[in-house]
Amino acid sequence: MALSRRTLLAAVVAGGALAGCGAGRGAEGGGAALAPASTVAGSPEAPSVTPAATPSGSASGTPSGAASTAPSVAASPSVAASAAPREPGRAELVQRYAAVAPTAWGVDLPGVVTGLPEGQRATALTFDACGGPGGSRYDAELIDFLRAHGVPATLFLNARWIDANPHIFEQLAADPLFEIGNHGTVHRPLSVTGRSAEGIAGTGGVGEVYDEVAGNAHKLTELLGHPPRFFRSGTAYYDDVAVRVVADLGERIAGFTVNADGGATLPAAEVRQEVASAPPGAIVIGHMNQPGHGTASGVAAALPGLLAAGRRFVRLSDVL
Ligand SMILES: [Zn+2]
Repeated sequence: MALSRRTLLAAVVAGGALAGCGAGRGAEGGGAALAPASTVAGSPEAPSVTPAATPSGSASGTPSGAASTAPSVAASPSVAASAAPREPGRAELVQRYAAVAPTAWGVDLPGVVTGLPEGQRATALTFDACGGPGGSRYDAELIDFLRAHGVPATLFLNARWIDANPHIFEQLAADPLFEIGNHGTVHRPLSVTGRSAEGIAGTGGVGEVYDEVAGNAHKLTELLGHPPRFFRSGTAYYDDVAVRVVADLGERIAGFTVNADGGATLPAAEVRQEVASAPPGAIVIGHMNQPGHGTASGVAAALPGLLAAGRRFVRLSDVL
């Protein structure tokens, strides 16, 4: 609960300023997305790291394992990685889900990976680069610090950010310390009904979900030489049908356990506290596109202590 209060305060302080990835201030900009982080913050030794995290109440009517029940032929990342032609097309997916209505909406639906596998003692840092107006800068201080300390991370890059930072992208992609994830084509919450989150309009149908996921996936495949394994939407919100579409496209959805920077709105002291208290097995979300905000300084203040205590850090693909 303390986290929620802090974030609400941060939201007030930040006012209406464009924060992190959008107008809101959840994981990707705001308070509403903080449930998983609040839960963990209250019990740092008992991370809720199981991928099968309980869905929010509204999801109770959802068939369990919604993502796995999709009539998919490409649900396995390894399949997609080795056989791109088997990826279902836009029209195929639109037809596949034409009669399916979403029954859940949130940041921690079944099919969203909200922590590392049970028993995993390492922590996964993830940083988003949201792109678009106000979101295409590069936090060199943050990345340089990770490099200086040999701390790996998974970087979720939006297509617009890549277009705005082609040379930096090349350097990040070539650095084995980092894994590149898919942060969407134009950074939209992933909905099949146009539902919005954090003040950002969601995709309006299965076809637009496809565009949002596959557009940047194809770009990354071309640039990296292989498809991205992990996807995170703008705002990190999804409905359950969209979750299934992402699985069909061969990517896993990376949620989060700890919201480190409140959409790049939190001051350094609070970022430090969130990162320092991230339990083993946590996926930590922050931002690498808002230099001068609290993220880099907070991370830099927290990591030395964790490293000294023996904490290991991993990229998502190292353990998932
Ligand atoms: Zn974002």
